[in-house]
Amino acid sequence: MWWSRWMKHLRSAGSRMYAGMHDPLDHVTGLEKRELLAHLAGDCDPFRIMAIKKGPGTRERPNLIPSAYNRRLMGCSCSPHDNHVEYMWLHLGCPKRCGCGYWFELCPVAPL
Ligand SMILES: [Zn+2]
Repeated sequence: MWWSRWMKHLRSAGSRMYAGMHDPLDHVTGLEKRELLAHLAGDCDPFRIMAIKKGPGTRERPNLIPSAYNRRLMGCSCSPHDNHVEYMWLHLGCPKRCGCGYWFELCPVAPL
């Protein structure tokens, strides 16, 4: 009861001190702000770090790995029963085959 009257008083008295928190978007800058804007735009993976489900993975239709750079370190979970991940570097324009037989190729994407 008293709390609501007190808050009403603070708001009506022109006090901006307790009016509320600022929007987090006003506090962040740089890369963090671009990440937050991407999230607000609906892109839940702006850095393309979430796992990708493997497709056919043949030499003609390799699995495309997004990257904003000329190379990227990627991990392949070769078998669902394996408890380890095989890591390898992918370079732009050089499709690569993992030990499990799947092919991967770097797919350029715009940087964040
Ligand atoms: Zn593999």
